[in-house]
Amino acid sequence: MSYPHNDPIEISGAGPAGLAASIAVLRAGRQARVYEKHHEVGRRFHGDFQGLENWTTETDVFDELGALGIECEFEHVPFDEVVGFDPDGIPHTFRSNKPLFYLVRRGSEVGSLDMDLKRQAQVVGAELHFDEPAHHFTRGGIVTEGPHRADAIATGYLFETDMADCAYAAVSDRLAPKGYAYLLVHAGRGTLATCMFDDFHNERRYVERCVEFFTEKVGVRMKDSHRFGGSGNFSLPRKASKGNIVYAGEAAGFQDPLFGFGIRWALLSGALAGAALAAGEPERYQHDWKRRLRAYHQTAATNRWFYGRLGDRGYRRLIRRYPEHADIRDWLRHAYAPRLWKRAWYHLAINDHHTPLLTLHDDCDCTWCRCSR
Ligand SMILES: Cc1cc2nc3c(=O)[nH]c(=O)nc-3n(C[C@H](O)[C@H](O)[C@H](O)COP(=O)(O)OP(=O)(O)OC[C@H]3O[C@@H](n4cnc5c(N)ncnc54)[C@H](O)[C@@H]3O)c2cc1C
Repeated sequence: MSYPHNDPIEISGAGPAGLAASIAVLRAGRQARVYEKHHEVGRRFHGDFQGLENWTTETDVFDELGALGIECEFEHVPFDEVVGFDPDGIPHTFRSNKPLFYLVRRGSEVGSLDMDLKRQAQVVGAELHFDEPAHHFTRGGIVTEGPHRADAIATGYLFETDMADCAYAAVSDRLAPKGYAYLLVHAGRGTLATCMFDDFHNERRYVERCVEFFTEKVGVRMKDSHRFGGSGNFSLPRKASKGNIVYAGEAAGFQDPLFGFGIRWALLSGALAGAALAAGEPERYQHDWKRRLRAYHQTAATNRWFYGRLGDRGYRRLIRRYPEHADIRDWLRHAYAPRLWKRAWYHLAINDHHTPLLTLHDDCDCTWCRCSR
């Protein structure tokens, strides 16, 4: 790809991946032009709380992002404790010595992750074009347009509440087929959702069961509630490029296939893509994402293969075997850590059509996605 040195590098999509890419391009001394089809950043989201995961590496996620030039000035709240319910509704407390995740808000409100990344991109001088879907990038560019199909969905309610801050999760196929339900509360606002990997057609039923469940178990109190939802895409790229275009974030399928924690991988892959293109070395991006993300992706996909087959009996056994006094962050890091046998399993499973690696997307009618099947 040959960009005249003074021409801006073009990026389509102003989500975390696209904005991280633009920041990396500007920090490397080049110009960046970002096209966003909506009139503002964060329009895919609704003010919902999400978790920026901090368990896949020993290094804190903020240190890793800081080294890539992304400042963590958006509102964030560290959580080092989650109460998880097993399929019988029995609570188990999972604690860590360091933050397990940082609660962030998504959407177009001041303080959200999306709005602060936009501010950072503008401070370094990115050109942002809103209400402008990307055109064809004849000289190449970076595509960060988010998911193009729904392999998983997360849907539920956003609400006001007088509850204290808390983080709850529940695993049960009655609440969230092959996934998990969650309830996050901070500063009088809450997000209650089911994150489902199957049976999308019946999402309303699962959402209502989740409301009943959390009402019974923790007395959730919701005021001014409204529905929200969205989808995720785990397409396991072999090569995140086509011709002179490179892909980052969910547009490339960089999503955690086990639980759908895609923000960190979107920021990382966007920053790697931006830095490589700014240096005029697009092939370096292939090398960089493979070095940083591929083994994690394959491991998480293998984990999903097993998790999707556990069912309620398996979840129950998994939770009850969790060692008392263990640190959940260490436990999860261990589960996500690339292992030779998991990578070998990944390669076997990906070629086995009888037991597909990711049994996702089976019941798609394109209500949730853009796969055009
Ligand atoms: C309900 C829900 C809950 C989630 N919870 C979590 C969580 O707790 N933790 C976590 O880590 N992850 C979570 N995720 C996943 C996470 O939000 C995504 O992985 C992350 O936002 C991906 O970033 P991205 O930049 O790749 O894509 P996006 O955030 O989707 O951004 C893509 C941008 O591109 C724009 N765009 C699309 N097409 C075009 C076009 N043709 N031209 C120009 N612009 C275009 C879109 O409008 C959008 O602004 C959740 C996702 C959902 C839906």
